[in-house]
Amino acid sequence: MLPFKVVYHPRYDLDLGPHVFPSQKFKMVHDALLQEGLAEPGDFLMPEPAGDADILRVHTPAYMQKLQTDSLTLSERMKLEIPVSEATVQAFWLAAGGSILTARNALRDGFAANLSGGFHHAYPGHGEGFCMLHDVAIAIRALQAAEEIRTAMTVDTDVHHGNGTAAIFANDASVHTLSIHQENNYPMPKPPSDHDIGLEDGTRDAEYLDALEEGLLYSLKSFVPDLIFYVGGADPYREDQLGGLALTMEGLQKRDRLVFEHARRRGIPVASTMAGGYARRVADTVRIHVNTIVAARDVMLQESLK
Ligand SMILES: [Zn+2]
Repeated sequence: MLPFKVVYHPRYDLDLGPHVFPSQKFKMVHDALLQEGLAEPGDFLMPEPAGDADILRVHTPAYMQKLQTDSLTLSERMKLEIPVSEATVQAFWLAAGGSILTARNALRDGFAANLSGGFHHAYPGHGEGFCMLHDVAIAIRALQAAEEIRTAMTVDTDVHHGNGTAAIFANDASVHTLSIHQENNYPMPKPPSDHDIGLEDGTRDAEYLDALEEGLLYSLKSFVPDLIFYVGGADPYREDQLGGLALTMEGLQKRDRLVFEHARRRGIPVASTMAGGYARRVADTVRIHVNTIVAARDVMLQESLK
């Protein structure tokens, strides 16, 4: 029914219990897509966990081993801000495998979505801000290693700056990193992306969309990648508990469309990931992520953009 694949695994749930990160959102988005008739079972693909070789193209052997043997130090655990358990480790390995599968399907169909991923705060040697493994970097490296792509661009619209992404690809001319975020928010400091757009507190739809379009035009003028990884956080929403921008739900869907349309016009495939979302009502976060899939469908079916 959808003109692309959606990657999902029931064990994406980080099983965090009461926590500001609503990891039940992954299943809720999956269920909403089915219940509302937006997708059918055949639209979904189930990923395998990433292999250790995939992880090690991005992360250090010491960090990977600490995760696998549950031996992070107390300060490393505090930085990560989520518990290390069998369930969380498995969920992040699956999310990374899911982003690899999503990238491959995006190359085939022009678009694909992982109903997880976008863990843009993870660094090679440590995790932070709810991000244990950098699934997006792992996927880009996997496809580069298999010579399926040469270049990639990350378009990160999560309200928080993509610090792990910026650090991982800092000296890599094959990957262009674009981040549009709230300037006065975690993380501090922010290692420079190739293109950073730091927005003022309370930025609203019109101003945000202008800044995003300007940023896309600027980045895509100098760099036309083989693949765009979209990090479509739901947290620029005005009701978000960890964000200080003021986008409406409609504004967020226009944001998604803008990214997908610019990619589609240039024939660049897009792999979409979910990243953050901490709305007071989890249902709002879920709706924003569902709307991303709807925006992608509408853009894909818009023949004039081909
Ligand atoms: Zn965020």
